[in-house]
Amino acid sequence: MLFENLGLTQDIARAVAEQGYSAPTPIQAQAIPAVMQGRDVMAAAQTGTGKTAGFTLPLLHRLSSGKRAGKGQVRVLVLTPTRELAAQVFENVQSYSKYLPMRHAVVFGGVKINPQISRLHGGTDMLVATPGRLLDLYSQGAVRFDQLEALVLDEADRMLDMGFIHDIKRILKILPPKRQTLLFSATFSPEIRQLAKGLVSNPLEIDVSPRNSTTATVRQKLHPVDKTRKTKLLSHLIRENNWHQALVFSRTKHGANRLVKQLEGDSIRAVAIHGNKSQNARTRALAEFKGGKVQILVATDIAARGIDIDQLPQVVNFDLPNVPEDYVHRIGRTGRAGAHGQAVSLVSADEFKQLRDIERLIGKAVPREQVEGFEPAHQVPASGNPRRGDGQKQRSGRHKRAESVRGKGHHHGDRNSRSRSGRRGNREGTPTHSGY
Ligand code: AMP
Repeated sequence: MLFENLGLTQDIARAVAEQGYSAPTPIQAQAIPAVMQGRDVMAAAQTGTGKTAGFTLPLLHRLSSGKRAGKGQVRVLVLTPTRELAAQVFENVQSYSKYLPMRHAVVFGGVKINPQISRLHGGTDMLVATPGRLLDLYSQGAVRFDQLEALVLDEADRMLDMGFIHDIKRILKILPPKRQTLLFSATFSPEIRQLAKGLVSNPLEIDVSPRNSTTATVRQKLHPVDKTRKTKLLSHLIRENNWHQALVFSRTKHGANRLVKQLEGDSIRAVAIHGNKSQNARTRALAEFKGGKVQILVATDIAARGIDIDQLPQVVNFDLPNVPEDYVHRIGRTGRAGAHGQAVSLVSADEFKQLRDIERLIGKAVPREQVEGFEPAHQVPASGNPRRGDGQKQRSGRHKRAESVRGKGHHHGDRNSRSRSGRRGNREGTPTHSGY
């Protein structure tokens, strides 16, 4: 599946291409067509799955046609539990709509309300908001919803955890009932199902979480190592462990070719498959690998999707994928059908961000194991803080609004550190916790 096949307007497709995304993530592949058609969606998807683009892209697509927002009106409302998440979503909205003539805004508590009032005055195509500040703005007459086309509840489970249920109910009362509604949550808990009743109608249910829980039959570990020593470590592991059939993942085609040359230099029989190889060359490589003529098959993520090899004993992540789901896909190549397999990742200091995203997605830390003689200059942190809902629950109620979270160690601070621009902190310059 390619982004081009989704039928997004050219202006959006161009902005997506500039982000460097080629293929939609699983949640995007499912959500984008449904949202484009105007369907309600209920999705169980955690951070790192690409869910933000999963709803912003098709909603922008829908907004690109239709009547512009009148004075004080809002066409799409995105509610988020925290200001950091609001800022992050807004940043996404801005990047994806850079070629569209639209007006978007973000509003949250803890900052002056007057500039927000003026901002909303001219009408807003997509408004990202935290619940409490939105209600304040509404009570001051700064925002109206007669033209509302769609509502998104992002991280609905966190909203409930943080005691926003009453605010949400009040907001729902002031929105037109005829609208498209999208609900995103880490899980479909009974509370979320309860909330969804009467909120979404005949929704497409998407659940990308089971695939993210890595299979129990795969032993996972990672070896911290300096980037420049990865190839030597790989050769060492192949020899020491006598791996006779290992699938090695490389993020890039060029990297895959280079690795094959280097392994051959170490007298290890290896072959690469990736998109630049002809179909014949790929088929031949695969046959040689299956037949035991070559020990090591080096593949890119995309090339590997199409190959069918059962019960591979060994998968190696020579580098970590940028899209966390790819990690799950990669290690799913081993330990199939109840057989035991092993997945080993070689992780260098520049890959901490990817590691943290992966550990958050799979909900656990990958055990670290240092290989003697390959100790890196920079250690890999003990855990990428994989647990969601890190216990920093906020007190409920309108008077203790939790949206102005600035707490240290709050995982939404981490989200900001993942922004493409590399900036830390949110748009208003509020300092946020930066993970490592
Ligand atoms: P999210 O789950 O929405 O927080 O997104 C997680 C990260 O994945 C963000 O840094 C996005 O920029 C990135 N991302 C979203 N969609 C894609 C895609 N199709 N390909 C590659 N990266 C993506």
